[in-house]
Amino acid sequence: MSSAWDRANELMPGGVNSPVRAFGAVGGVPPFIASARGPYLRTTDGDELIDFIASWGAIVFGHADPDVVDAIAKAAARGTTYGLPTLGEVEFAEQVTTMVPSIQMLRMVNSGTEATASALRLARGATGRDVLIKFEGCYHGHADAFLVKAGSGLATFGEPDSPGVPEGTAATTRTVRFNDLDSVAAAMTPGDVAAVIVEPVAGNMGVVPPESGFLEGLRRLTERNGALLIFDEVMTGFRVGPQGAQGRYNIDPDLTTLGKIVAGGMPAAVFGGRRDLMSQMAPSGPVYQAGTLAGNPIAVASGLVTLRRITSDPALYDRLEAAGQELETRLTRAMRRHGIDGTVQRVGAMLTLFFGPTVVRSWDDAAVVDRERFTRYFQGALRRGVMLPPSPFEAMFLMDAHTDVLETAAAALESAIGDAA
Ligand SMILES: *Cc1c(COP(=O)(O)O)cnc(C)c1O
Repeated sequence: MSSAWDRANELMPGGVNSPVRAFGAVGGVPPFIASARGPYLRTTDGDELIDFIASWGAIVFGHADPDVVDAIAKAAARGTTYGLPTLGEVEFAEQVTTMVPSIQMLRMVNSGTEATASALRLARGATGRDVLIKFEGCYHGHADAFLVKAGSGLATFGEPDSPGVPEGTAATTRTVRFNDLDSVAAAMTPGDVAAVIVEPVAGNMGVVPPESGFLEGLRRLTERNGALLIFDEVMTGFRVGPQGAQGRYNIDPDLTTLGKIVAGGMPAAVFGGRRDLMSQMAPSGPVYQAGTLAGNPIAVASGLVTLRRITSDPALYDRLEAAGQELETRLTRAMRRHGIDGTVQRVGAMLTLFFGPTVVRSWDDAAVVDRERFTRYFQGALRRGVMLPPSPFEAMFLMDAHTDVLETAAAALESAIGDAA
C-alpha cells in the first residue's frame, strides 16, 4: 500500500491543490490533516500541532469553533445551494457594509482570486482604461493580470511570471515598489491607469507594513490621475482590526476585496466599494460577472456568525494584539540571543520572522532572506509540534485560541531559532 503522499502525487500536480502546501521551500513530506480544533491540527499520524497557518489567515477564533460549526450545520440542513436570492445574503451585505463603511455595495464571489479579478474588470470598465499598477511582492490571486512579480507562492518556486499569461495581458500590468511613492508616481502616466491595487499591509512577501504616508500618498496619486485605488484586504480584512487595514490606517479606497476571514473558513469572498462604481456591475450596469455558487447559503451563514461575533467582542483585537506583541518580543530576543541577523515584522495578528535583513520595506529587501536558515527554523518548530507556514515569504497568523498555548508555542519557536543559529 503506497503512502497517501505517493497516491496524491500520482493524481494531483505536486500532490496538492495549492502549490505552497507541497512544502517545496522547506523540503520533506507535508503532514496530512485529519481534523483541527482550537489552535491544534491533528495529523493522520495522530500528531497534534499548534497551527500558525490558520488556513492562510482564514481562521480568526480557532478551528472548529462551535458557533461557526453550528451555523454551518444548520445552514446545510436547509439545503446547500439554490441559485436564487436568500435573506442571509442581505444580512451578510448589511453586516459587511456596516463594519467597513467604504463598502457601500458589494458582490459575493467564491475566492479571493475571483474578487480581485472582478474588481479589476470593474475598474477597467468604469474608467475606460486598461493599465493596472501593482506592487512587487504583492499577491492578488492567480488571475492573469496579477501574475507579475506576485510574492510568496511564486517567489518560493522562483517563477516571477507564469507561462500561460499572454504577453499582451502582462503588458498592461506595471509593477512598482512597495513603500516607494516615487516609483508609483513615475508609473502613473495620464489617462491610461485604471487602478492601483495594493495589499495595504503586505502579507504575501512576509509581513511588510506600509510606512507612514505611503497609503495616503497612493490615495492622493490615484485621485489626481483619475485612477481607482483598490485595497486587496483578502488577508488583512478582519485580521488587523474590525475594519481591516483601511480602518487601522484611516484611508478609504474606491474598491475593496475581502476573503479568508470574511466567510469564517468557508469558500467565499467579496468585492465592493463606492455605490456609483458597484452600480456598474450587471445586471444594474454593463460590467459582467456572475457565479453559480456565489452567495452560497452555507458560506453566508459561516461568514455572518463570524462577523457578528467579531462585532460583539470588541476586546478580540486587543487580545490578538497582545499575543502578537508577546510573540514578536520573544522571537526578536531569541534571534539576538543567538547572534542571528534578522527582524520580526508584525501588524496585529500577522507576523513574519525574516532571517537576514534588519528591515524589510519592499520585495527587494525580502528577496535576500536566508532561506536555509528558515528551513532549519521551520523543521525545528515542526519537530517541537508547531506548524509554521512552510515558506520564508509568508505571514504566521494568530487565532484567539492561541492564547492558551502561546507560552508553549513561544518556547518551541525560541528553541527552533536555536536550531537555526
Ligand atoms: C489569499 C489572497 C488572495 C487570493 O485568495 P484565494 O481565495 O486564495 O483565491 C488574494 N489576495 C490576497 C491579499 C491574499 O492574501
